Amino acid sequence: MTNTAQSPRLLVVGSVAIDWVITPHAEREQAVGGSATFCSMAASYFAGVRLVGVVGHDFPDQAITDLRAHGVDLQGLEVVPDGLTFRWKGRYHANMNARDTLDTQLNVFANFDPRLPAGYRDTPYLFLANIQPDLQLRVLEQVARPRLVGLDTMNLWIDVARPSLLRVLGKIDVLLVNEEEAMQLSGEHNLVKAARAVQRLGPHAVVVKRGEYGALLFHGDDMFAAPALPLEDVVDPTGAGDAFAGGFMGWLARTDDPHGEQLRTAMIYGSTLASFLVEGFSYDALGALDSSRIRARFERFSRLTDFRRAELR
Ligand code: AMP
Repeated sequence: MTNTAQSPRLLVVGSVAIDWVITPHAEREQAVGGSATFCSMAASYFAGVRLVGVVGHDFPDQAITDLRAHGVDLQGLEVVPDGLTFRWKGRYHANMNARDTLDTQLNVFANFDPRLPAGYRDTPYLFLANIQPDLQLRVLEQVARPRLVGLDTMNLWIDVARPSLLRVLGKIDVLLVNEEEAMQLSGEHNLVKAARAVQRLGPHAVVVKRGEYGALLFHGDDMFAAPALPLEDVVDPTGAGDAFAGGFMGWLARTDDPHGEQLRTAMIYGSTLASFLVEGFSYDALGALDSSRIRARFERFSRLTDFRRAELR
């Protein structure tokens, strides 16, 4: 399923990070993370990916090697020799559904000014992973009109950068947010009303991620529910949303048909990649996949919701 031979079809712009993750069962202090890292690696199983981001001199060489081994083009990854990589520290609650951010150090991210290499400007699919909305706008100014633009954001930007976020929402096609963010952005407490209100802000499709309860797609008047795979052992959910975005965007970039049925299939591939991601710290599990394992898990998703239509007489 790896699709690295052909010209890259998906451009991912976002954070590349070193995380310190604490779960009720274990802890990892130097976990490579970041929205762009997880998204790019997940998408790499479907399409050639270009990554734009920034790291410092402390970013591990092994992670660069691993991303390259997945065919991710890193020409757009800026390395600041006298700077430190963005760092995030979080602790998960007992049920692993909720977490608290304990520390955020912007480091090289503070002065990040995404500049796209000239050859990147025509990439047909663009994913603006979670970064400050003004930076997302700056990326949009540098690309020729892509076939589809997806965007992720977070509660912080809804709070502190709402005007910029509203501007960028008017220019994109698909917004991926979690349930709380959809409600915070719209001011609605009902999920359906919240999603419909967000659609009116610009994106014709809204994906609402609900952690272990799956994800909902609102597309035009249509609605689609994708389950999450019930797993016995969740090791580290950090990056599940980004891996979902990678599977989702990667599938659309691969099929080049970002409508109707393919949007639904993309939801299941997003859920599939997210289900692998949570089985290890950092990208331990996500990075070790191949097409047969992805296909087998995709089938498990189908079985999970497959039922016979029966008429009530
Ligand atoms: P997720 O679990 O999908 O929400 O993604 C977690 C990843 O987001 C971690 O690897 C963090 O390094 C990264 N992250 C946390 N806070 C921010 C932020 N303010 N901006 C960009 N990325 C962040």
